[in-house]
Amino acid sequence: MIPLAVPNLTGNEKEYLNKCIDTTFVSSVGEFVNRMEEMTAEKCGAMYGVATSSGTTGLHLALMGCGVEHGDIVIIPTFTFIATANAVVHCGAAPWLMDIEEDSWTINVRQIKKELEEKTIWQGSRLIHKETGKHVAAIMPVYTLGNIPDMDEIKDIANLYHLPLIADAAAAIGSTYKGKKIGLLADLTVISFNGNKTITAGGGGMIVGNDEVLMKKLKHLSTTARVTVEYDHDMVGFNYRLTNIQAAVGCAQLERAEEFIKKKKEIREFYNNAFKGLYGVELFPIPREVNSSCWFSGIVLKDGNLDRVRNLCKELHNRGIESRSFWKPVHMQEPYKMALTADTLDVAANLWERIVTLPCSTNITVKELEYVAECVKGILEL
Ligand SMILES: *Cc1c(COP(=O)(O)O)cnc(C)c1O
Repeated sequence: MIPLAVPNLTGNEKEYLNKCIDTTFVSSVGEFVNRMEEMTAEKCGAMYGVATSSGTTGLHLALMGCGVEHGDIVIIPTFTFIATANAVVHCGAAPWLMDIEEDSWTINVRQIKKELEEKTIWQGSRLIHKETGKHVAAIMPVYTLGNIPDMDEIKDIANLYHLPLIADAAAAIGSTYKGKKIGLLADLTVISFNGNKTITAGGGGMIVGNDEVLMKKLKHLSTTARVTVEYDHDMVGFNYRLTNIQAAVGCAQLERAEEFIKKKKEIREFYNNAFKGLYGVELFPIPREVNSSCWFSGIVLKDGNLDRVRNLCKELHNRGIESRSFWKPVHMQEPYKMALTADTLDVAANLWERIVTLPCSTNITVKELEYVAECVKGILEL
């Protein structure tokens, strides 16, 4: 079986894990946690990193750190992994769902502008969503598969409306926008090290940023807000710590980040070349001005729906190839059926059930890629 996306653990992972056990530093204190924070911040071009137990808890903490409170609303794209929306709700807030742009699969910037113009009003220094009376508290774009939206324009909107910018960059480590690393594009940027991401720690996350005071506060909140070793805590904190065991894997992975990201880009290039110009198939997009980390790759069926995708996946499975559909938009998910949305979400609604993700592990061989492409073409009669 050629898997969809499996971790590549052939570097220093084993040695570093043994070090954790030999030194008994298996928990949330240890050299690897510190090293991983430094390495991730450096890779993202940011000053500081705060490790978290997952990308989701990192997003939750980042939103709170930027002042998102109970009863607020936060602008996010509907086309994302559900964790983006969940993190908003974990703050007691609600998502305001926007559509995406066809050529990047990232949040529609013009729509954010239009929705804010038409549907909000200033009450003193508070930006209020007219229909619900709720306070609009932040914008959280998603760097879909490593694709970055036009952050210069989003930053202009955020400045105009005094909204903090938090980036869900879960799988975007290694991406750049206009030559800038991701740690420089938003107030806070959140990475995931989940098992299916390009760089994994088994599980885990990281907030990167440049505001020293805020980053210290986030570290404090993530580690139970402990002031002294005598069980003294000054806030209601969280146990969102990453363990040294996870960070040991993470550090070994980060040592190979360039190699992994290069391979992910080669896989994208392979599939896009293999399916370019074929009738009935569209390619995964890479927007202008963005050098994408190309987390996942695959194809988009020009016509059809989830049944066609399922059928293709079944046929591929019969040929020893694992493949899968991709994110079902947030507004179609049971817990978010009543969520606040922009006037139209057509692009996301029409796109999601035509996407097929194809094998893209960093250890996949050219022979395997050729076999996958050949099978897909055979099944679809391209
Ligand atoms: C993976 C992912 C997350 C969640 O990260 P976890 O570490 O699994 O909690 C959030 N948002 C996006 C866009 C993701 O791809």
